[in-house]
Amino acid sequence: MKSTVYVAENCLATLIASCLEVPHKEAGGFLIGKEDKRFVAGERIGCLTLDAAYPIRTCRSGKGFWQPANTRAYKRIIGTIKAIGFNIVGEYHSHIANVAELSDDDKEFIEQEIKDLAKDEVGITSWIEMVLNIEPKTYSRKPRRGCQCSYFSKEIRCTVKGIREPLKGYSITIGTYWFDPKTSSYEEAVVHVP
Ligand SMILES: [Zn+2]
Repeated sequence: MKSTVYVAENCLATLIASCLEVPHKEAGGFLIGKEDKRFVAGERIGCLTLDAAYPIRTCRSGKGFWQPANTRAYKRIIGTIKAIGFNIVGEYHSHIANVAELSDDDKEFIEQEIKDLAKDEVGITSWIEMVLNIEPKTYSRKPRRGCQCSYFSKEIRCTVKGIREPLKGYSITIGTYWFDPKTSSYEEAVVHVP
């Protein structure tokens, strides 16, 4: 049932800006969303809609890693968002010129994180982890317009391509994974972007 994730427009914009602000370092943060119904490929389906992304500032990151550096700040954010009636449904982080898949370190980190949150009765029953792989691209010919953005939806992962300078741009592939804390298992979700 929870297999489709729909990324709302402003959430997508924040995700891209957050990941490209410092393109040589991984970035990450929380995903805020809700169970919803959306038109996807002409059909109204139940899905998890991601309404907003919050880039976490108290983090440690480098070319091959990203993690929150202040657990108290982290829990304060989750508690506050919940208190005003929204839900943190997961987390995102970027990969630099890699793949949009969870590494073994990522999985270990997520499992520990959920255990820590469970201890504090934050009430996490399921969690999604989004991986955005950032590939800097140099294009060989000038595009017709100075700025060209197009979205290509694959069956599961999405790739967002944007050209910001005449011959330079980025290709961002988004992979999203459900984590079930009961079974410690992951399942890749279908991602849709507007
Ligand atoms: Zn990772």
